[in-house]
Amino acid sequence: MDAEAATVATGIPVTGRAGESMLTTRLRAMLSWPNMRERAPAPADPVTALIKAHHQVHSGSDVALLRRAYLVAERMHRGQMRKSGDPYITHPLAVAEILAHLGMDGTTLAAALLHDTVEDTSYTLAQLRADFGPDVAHLVDGVTKFDKAHFGARAEAETIRKMIVAAGQDIRVLVIKLADRLHNMQTLDARSAASRARIAGATREVLVPLCDRLGIQALKRELEDKVLLFLDPEEYERIDGMVSNRPDWNDYVQNLVTLGRGALRREKLDGRVKPRPRHYYSIWKDTQQAGSPVPMDLPRIVVILEGDDPDCYAALCAVHQQWKPIPGRFKDFIAAPKNNLYRSLHTTVLGPGDQMVEVLIRTEQMHRAVEYGVVAPFRYPARQSRRSTALSLFNPVRTAPREVVPPPRQHGEHAWLRRALDLEQAAPDAVQFVETLRCDLAEQQIQVFAWGRQLLLPAGASPVDVAYELGTRTGDRCVAATVNGVLTPLNAALTDGDVVDILVSRARNHPGPRREWLEFVKSPNARLRLSRRFTEPEVAAGTVSDRLQLGRAAIGLALRRRDRALADEQRLISLAQALDYPDLDTLLIAVAEHRVSADTIVDQLIASVDNQNEAARTPPVNVVPPRRDAADTPPRRSSTSLAR
Ligand code: MN
Repeated sequence: MDAEAATVATGIPVTGRAGESMLTTRLRAMLSWPNMRERAPAPADPVTALIKAHHQVHSGSDVALLRRAYLVAERMHRGQMRKSGDPYITHPLAVAEILAHLGMDGTTLAAALLHDTVEDTSYTLAQLRADFGPDVAHLVDGVTKFDKAHFGARAEAETIRKMIVAAGQDIRVLVIKLADRLHNMQTLDARSAASRARIAGATREVLVPLCDRLGIQALKRELEDKVLLFLDPEEYERIDGMVSNRPDWNDYVQNLVTLGRGALRREKLDGRVKPRPRHYYSIWKDTQQAGSPVPMDLPRIVVILEGDDPDCYAALCAVHQQWKPIPGRFKDFIAAPKNNLYRSLHTTVLGPGDQMVEVLIRTEQMHRAVEYGVVAPFRYPARQSRRSTALSLFNPVRTAPREVVPPPRQHGEHAWLRRALDLEQAAPDAVQFVETLRCDLAEQQIQVFAWGRQLLLPAGASPVDVAYELGTRTGDRCVAATVNGVLTPLNAALTDGDVVDILVSRARNHPGPRREWLEFVKSPNARLRLSRRFTEPEVAAGTVSDRLQLGRAAIGLALRRRDRALADEQRLISLAQALDYPDLDTLLIAVAEHRVSADTIVDQLIASVDNQNEAARTPPVNVVPPRRDAADTPPRRSSTSLAR
């Protein structure tokens, strides 16, 4: 939830709610609910729509978890209001519904219902883990923001870094974040003009590209249309006016569908043909690009085949026999995919009445990947194992309802996420990581070929970027390049589809990369490698006060991961002394510069606090002190090293 959205109807920040008396909370609830009732009577069962949407995709799945998550979330948020005046619970419920329509599993939906509890209510992560288990807790923690009061200016960067790292373990973290933002965009009307512009801008710059990299078209379309609505309302109106005032359009497209089906049948191809209207943002983008005075939109259909890749080419033949293709408009994103998830054939033909018509051709499998990207495995989980199929053959009546099997955690397949995690490893701190990530998301991407590999790079990337993408050693030793067979300067800007060859020096005394490269490289990979080599570490980490803050933030983060917080600074000062640092600042800077890890410091801190608490308690003589699990016991070594 956005900090600004998190104000109660009276203007009191929600975060203060934990300290409110029960009476205040109840009064507020009593005052606010009647308003709600006048507008729309609450349905008898508030989760009906959610369960219905979930069962539409996963028919047999158990919903006890969802009901329980709703009850807890409703109780915790009770008394909190959205800016719109609606009870706060309407937001997590709507986010869960968006995810249910997307086809996400029950764990994700439960986490969505609870996604703002830890951030905005007195519910703690530890409680949530105890009530709902580690998976739901991991997802909620991944989307929980760091407190600005505690982390200051770094809160945002640390929050984003935490989210990406959490997504590395479980991609569903990012999917919840996207649905959260979509609902906030859908309810942006209630916000001030300044907030609307800020949130819509941030959505366009970060969340839409993120959605694109994850390949979730179904969400991206909605996000983009909302962005357009708030950033350019007049154009939105104009496109809306055009789309809704085209009397013959629907009949024309329906006719195309019928003719298309006939063409498939003649070639004995199994498949469906559907209208595929462009969304407003896509019409707007094409119109802008062409500099056209009127919105540009062509009739469009999609052909979805039951078969395999070759059937797409057979269908292409069928389409081109039905209607004349327009030269230069055919694109084969099957042989050369646009990115890792988008595969289709695109062609433009001359349809009835000499009207240009766009046709997309893909298999069912490709269609799923296009629409749902990384979430396709959740929407279409692997069918039952062979064993259970065998059982159902023997006893077809008594088969258990089909369980949704969550796919294995496979972030390895998500090329973008894997790259983001690599960047996280290479970046010296959260702020630099997030900056790199922002650049990566902001750039248009081009695709080039080198050494038999297909590489995605930011637009304007150079042969040096290609070299670093092929490997750090290749980058460090690259001396020349050819582009499409022609010798080309190392700083030349590449374009989509270029074939690049990198020539490397094998000389023993090769001097390595050149400082000037930093002036033109675009890819995060090359930027990080070169800046690490040529920039002084002190400069990279910022001023002393920056580093102090960074050290403090890192320790705070490590504490929070363990569900702990620092009561007072004295503990940390004592620990710095015990570890032979001249003062606390020196320790904080050592943490900021990665000379000692925040985790190590926090482990020792916790051990020292727990030891002290233990010592303070004087157990009755004949009672054995409670036995702890081995895992709970602080390692002997760390406690002796603390001995003063
Ligand atoms: Mn939220």
